[in-house]
Amino acid sequence: MHHSKCSRRGFFKLTGASAAAGLCGPLLAGGQPAAAASEPLEVPTRPFGKSGMDASILSLGGMFDIARNHLMLKQALQWGVTYWDTADCYRYGIGSEKGFGKFFSRYPESRERVFLVTKSDERSPKGMSKLLDRSLDRLQTDYIDLYFIHAVRSIDELDDDTRAWAEKRKAEGKIRLFGFSTHSNMENCLLAAAKLGWIDGIMMTYNFRLMHTDRMRRAVDACTAAGIGLTAMKTQGGGQVKTDSDTELELAGRFVKRGFTDAQARLKAVWENPQIASICSQMPNMSLLMSNAAAAADQLSLSKIETDLMQAYAGETASAYCAGCVDLCESAVGAALPVGDVMRALMYCRSYGDRDRARELFAQIPAGARRQIAMTDFTAAERRCPQKLAIGRLMREAVDELA
Ligand code: SF4
Repeated sequence: MHHSKCSRRGFFKLTGASAAAGLCGPLLAGGQPAAAASEPLEVPTRPFGKSGMDASILSLGGMFDIARNHLMLKQALQWGVTYWDTADCYRYGIGSEKGFGKFFSRYPESRERVFLVTKSDERSPKGMSKLLDRSLDRLQTDYIDLYFIHAVRSIDELDDDTRAWAEKRKAEGKIRLFGFSTHSNMENCLLAAAKLGWIDGIMMTYNFRLMHTDRMRRAVDACTAAGIGLTAMKTQGGGQVKTDSDTELELAGRFVKRGFTDAQARLKAVWENPQIASICSQMPNMSLLMSNAAAAADQLSLSKIETDLMQAYAGETASAYCAGCVDLCESAVGAALPVGDVMRALMYCRSYGDRDRARELFAQIPAGARRQIAMTDFTAAERRCPQKLAIGRLMREAVDELA
């Protein structure tokens, strides 16, 4: 791994000053970002599984209005954030994919520098072909570096037809690599994918809360042995939790002395594992890009005691985090209720402050299931929940807040 020539501490001070002063003035001077010109910063790369391709360890999540943020894309490229992630279905589906497409059309030389990912909500070969062609058209490119089936909950969603489809699209040169994303039953999906032999990459929920469990370790080991490239998402582990925990105070004191924010420390916790090729982070503004790129490029690791304290904090706040193990709770409910999707919508609203995205996700749940929530007894599901979530209360609160 190579590192930036500039000192991380110096850069962090720079980002703080720029953020406080308002970003655009100093950054736009002379049409070039001043910070990049005077303080070269380089986000490292890691091999992406056995693909033979390298990916920047920080990936630009494209769930925002890309078309209006081309300056961010320019800055990302300058800092080596060359892994870009989008999807056909994102809120700004048209704005996101089309926004990237406009950028590639405006700066054609940039396309080959980017490791480009997009995703299909469709599962059938016919549906995937339709969406892939539409993505290629919107993105104004001839090929996708890594094509994902989006939000897989069970490996049964992939079969021999999926494999044949992926191999044909590779032969045609439309995609280079193939895989899926998952934020439900991640460990089972990873373990099963490692046995298939034809999955190149997976993007999964992975963070300081999940990475040390035996199940997740086994799943990641299996994928590493199978040569599958892994991208972590949802790496903040649900964002801030209100606690009166001494552990949180202790961590805050340590991080501030070392010049980290807690959000940067959570990224670092994931990068500590070399089995993870990249972190996909939604970075809808320059402040986040600066903060995350600085954390990616510096040479500071978490200490053992910081890692241990983060694990302790994860344990103390477990009941505020849904771990995505929906096979456990949904099978206990006795009705077709997508508990995991509701929890994810709540997380977008409460932890990320993205109420629009939360409401959009909640609205995708069938109306019958949404009405069913108020009449359902979640006691059996709560008994099975390893995080000890108050599922019934949270489900009803979600209806009140997001319906
Ligand atoms: S509510 Fe509990 S059992 Fe259900 S997915 Fe979340 S953590 Fe797992």
